[in-house]
Amino acid sequence: MKIETIAIQAGRDMSDDIGAVMPAIHPTTTYLRGNNAGYFYSRIDNPNRRSLESCLAELENGTDAIAFASGMAASNAVFQAMSSGDHLLLADDTYFGVRELVMDIFSRWGLEYTLVDMTDLDAVRTAIRPHTRLIWAETPSNPMLKITDIAALAEISRTAGIKLVVDGTWTTAILQKPLDLGADFVVHSSTKYLGGHSDLTGGILISLETCELTEKIRKIQGTGGAVPSAFDCWLLLRGIRTLAYRIRGHCANAARVAEFLYEHPQVQTVHYPGLPGHPGHDIARQQMQDFGGMLSVQVKGGSDQAATVAVSTKLFTEATSLGGVESLIEHRAPVEGPHSTTPGDLLRISVGLEHPDDLIEDLDQALAQPSFNR
Ligand SMILES: *Cc1c(COP(=O)(O)O)cnc(C)c1O
Repeated sequence: MKIETIAIQAGRDMSDDIGAVMPAIHPTTTYLRGNNAGYFYSRIDNPNRRSLESCLAELENGTDAIAFASGMAASNAVFQAMSSGDHLLLADDTYFGVRELVMDIFSRWGLEYTLVDMTDLDAVRTAIRPHTRLIWAETPSNPMLKITDIAALAEISRTAGIKLVVDGTWTTAILQKPLDLGADFVVHSSTKYLGGHSDLTGGILISLETCELTEKIRKIQGTGGAVPSAFDCWLLLRGIRTLAYRIRGHCANAARVAEFLYEHPQVQTVHYPGLPGHPGHDIARQQMQDFGGMLSVQVKGGSDQAATVAVSTKLFTEATSLGGVESLIEHRAPVEGPHSTTPGDLLRISVGLEHPDDLIEDLDQALAQPSFNR
């Protein structure tokens, strides 16, 4: 079945007595003993979460999907499933929240890590130690849009007996299927494209097969309790129904915006894998269906000018996050804190589903503003 069809049909349950075509929300926290569906207590399992999880497992060609209250909670569960003394490899430009989680929190619990540039496969091989358990990759990366070769990384991890996790938030299954490329797990912040409307927080982890690590993470979901509400699961599944078509629009608009920025005299560099000059363009063409709705741009005039542009747009809202129908712009370095390696002149842009002509006009006027100190 094609992915557009899966996104709309998977996880549907029309088994109630009234013939509802769309699912009900079940806010109940507890269930009558001996019920046919096997529900017990909603932290452990519930109908809205089960529908969501089965839809996402199908979308990603995985076996298990495990839903959490946020992307960070999903990431957290993976690290909680490690043991003290285990070592992991993190991409050097992994989403800063995940880096902070590992560097500031899990390091205190004895989890060891090495930051590696994962576009350099030799550097990955060299960084592997006898007790390395996990490789954590993210492609395209946030916010530099570096592209990592998932199949090559999967080959390295399989040879070394290590699990490979790919953060697929920026692509979703519509653009990239890490499990098909050999990864063991894919993790998403469903707050972003999967939800698609900037009105829910969620996370999801999908596994290629049910292994010991999957079972540990499932246990952490139910026992740790960082679970999404029934309403958020319902809302997320509703968002996923239009995912394929939203992603198409995001990609088409981002390509237009990237080309416009590439030609703009006030722009230094555009980071978008769809541009032929992007260092990861060829790999992106192989492993992605299209190049996504996210891009970043370094402007001439440094950090002050970047700050000026971010406050001067009228359609692009100056706000963090991404993947919603509305366009967002963010001067990134100041929000990333002490571990940030992001250049000061960089703006991260989430291209929404407004008309691209309007978006381009807005960026054009913002780039023309004279720089000021905030
Ligand atoms: C937003 C984001 C996260 C964190 O997800 P939350 O839902 O905010 O907890 C992780 N990885 C990437 C790539 C993200 O964009």
